[in-house]
Amino acid sequence: MKSIDLTKEKVITQADLAAAAQADTTELLLSETAVVTPSAFEFLEQRKITVRRGAVAAKSAAASPAATPALQALFNSPEAQAVKEEICAVGRKLWLRQYVDGNGGNISYRIGPNEVICTPTLTSKYDLRPEDMCMVDLTGKQLAGGKPRTSEILMHLEIYKEVSEAKAVVHCHPAHATAYAITGRIPPNCVIPEYEVFIGKVALSPYETPGTPEFARTVIPFVKHHNTVLLSNHGIVCWGDTVTHAEWYAEVVDTYCWTLMLAAQLGSPVTHIGSDKAGDLLAIKKKLGLPDPRHELTECALCDLPDIPGSIAIQPRTCGDSPSLTASEIESIVQAVTDRVVAALNAKK
Ligand SMILES: [Zn+2]
Repeated sequence: MKSIDLTKEKVITQADLAAAAQADTTELLLSETAVVTPSAFEFLEQRKITVRRGAVAAKSAAASPAATPALQALFNSPEAQAVKEEICAVGRKLWLRQYVDGNGGNISYRIGPNEVICTPTLTSKYDLRPEDMCMVDLTGKQLAGGKPRTSEILMHLEIYKEVSEAKAVVHCHPAHATAYAITGRIPPNCVIPEYEVFIGKVALSPYETPGTPEFARTVIPFVKHHNTVLLSNHGIVCWGDTVTHAEWYAEVVDTYCWTLMLAAQLGSPVTHIGSDKAGDLLAIKKKLGLPDPRHELTECALCDLPDIPGSIAIQPRTCGDSPSLTASEIESIVQAVTDRVVAALNAKK
């Protein structure tokens, strides 16, 4: 077995591989987070070169598969088989609804306290087969499965670590919700009851390079209070108690964004559900056990309405996504503002 070691590289291109690989190369060692370009992946497939990442790569070129018999039994259990089949069904839904293109999007399910079944990298979600699935631990190390796991699994894992109720994560690029994500805006609330109950306030996370640990961490401040996050200049991510339900949230948010766009073309302002009725919807949501920052925070307005009447987009406003200011912090801000106002008045005299 001949290994090539590219663990220092962040991005692996076909040119990198062509330069490093010999005719007898059978293994490529990569860092946990290295991004492999599609053409590089094709090169690896054609040459039948196995990829080993992170701790597995660091151990040695001769490292054995990470799965113990117990993990292998879990990966091949009837429960895991059902999850794999559900992931395939959801993958086809995503593709048929045009929420993913090319090899885009990824799906995962937490099957054990430290084990997650996920989709492989560089596979169309329409073409997924149960035997394509991978299993990783919460650090992203691949435990089982013949294909390399999705490079976006790190974001899924941050969600599982942050939210104990999250059992499934779906990431995709639906056009209407992504249109909001690329304009740095979110849809206003209190327009359609179903959206209020299943999504409510959607969050917008900052942009980072996909596949990196930095990107994975961008969602951490939001996922406790939001089951759906718009990813700036990228797409969306949803979590739920099942893979099917996480995909439902993608459908609800994208249809909502689409409907608002259609309504905007009618030339009449969008009407809103009143705050009193919005409270009823929030009560239903609480009963269903769905997260919403408005459950806990009384100072948070139930309805985020646009500044410009009739607009279908608003600036994302923080509500339960960051710690509230303490009394002394508020006092020092008030003092600083007062000092500035007094100084400005004195300067005018
Ligand atoms: Zn993506």
